[in-house]
Formats: sequence, C-alpha cells, structure tokens
Amino acid sequence: MECIFCRIAQRKQLAKIIYEDDLSVAFDDINPQAPVHTLIIPKKHISTNLDLREEDNVLIGHLFQVANKIARDKGIAERGFRLVMNCNPESGQTIFHMHLHIFGGRRMHWPPG
Ligand code: 5GP
Ligand code: ZN
Repeated sequence: MECIFCRIAQRKQLAKIIYEDDLSVAFDDINPQAPVHTLIIPKKHISTNLDLREEDNVLIGHLFQVANKIARDKGIAERGFRLVMNCNPESGQTIFHMHLHIFGGRRMHWPPG
C-alpha cells in the first residue's frame, strides 16, 4: 500500500495542510498532543533520517526553516516550542516517511517520555 504521507503530499488523502512549497508540506497532526502539533514532511519519500543522503542536506535545512516559519505564524516562537523527529520503532516512529513534529502552546516536559 502506498505511503500515507506521500498520499497527503499528493492530496490523495485529506489533511489540514497549512503550508506547502516545492520541497515540503506541513499539516496538522490528526491526534494532537499539544495546542500546536504540526508535521512537516519532505515531498520526497525518505523512510527515516537514517536514509538521508548528502544530496538531502539542503532539504533538511529547509525543513527547519519551514518549522521556524510555522512557529512564528502560530505565535509560539517566542514562548518556545519543540521539534521532534522519531527514528525507528523504539523511538515511537509509526509512519515511515520521515517527518518533523512541531509542538507548542503548552509547557513541555523534560525528559521526554
Ligand atoms: P511518529 O509516531 O511516526 O513520529 O508520528 C506519526 C504522527 O502522524 C502521529 O503523531 C500521528 O498522530 C500522525 N498521523 C498518523 N496518520 C495521520 C493522518 O492520516 N493524518 C494526519 N494529519 N496525521 C496522522
Ligand atoms: Zn512517503
């Protein structure tokens, strides 16, 4: 079966897309864990961050720029926010199309669970 995040990027599956450009798509998480919980994905299918290649370096930098833009647009930049990328099952990764979570709008706990 085709990757669910590829399907969202191709708009074959509905999601609340809040940002899109040539390289990336950002959409709100279907099961939010904070008042702001958005996922940023590369349009290119990359399963985990372990699969990144040298040629993806610009793409990864770009995902962080998009995260900063979303944090500012959603009004959480100054208060603070958290970026998370899970990698492989023990981290909690469930969707094997790499994605950056952006969490904000509440106090975050440390250490993370
Ligand atoms: P992971 O656990 O792989 O780091 O994160 C996957 C995230 O994707 C979870 O937070 C989950 O709620 C979210 N998710 C799973 N399926 C969908 C979907 O169909 N639409 C949206 N918007 N989020 C999804
Ligand atoms: Zn994919």
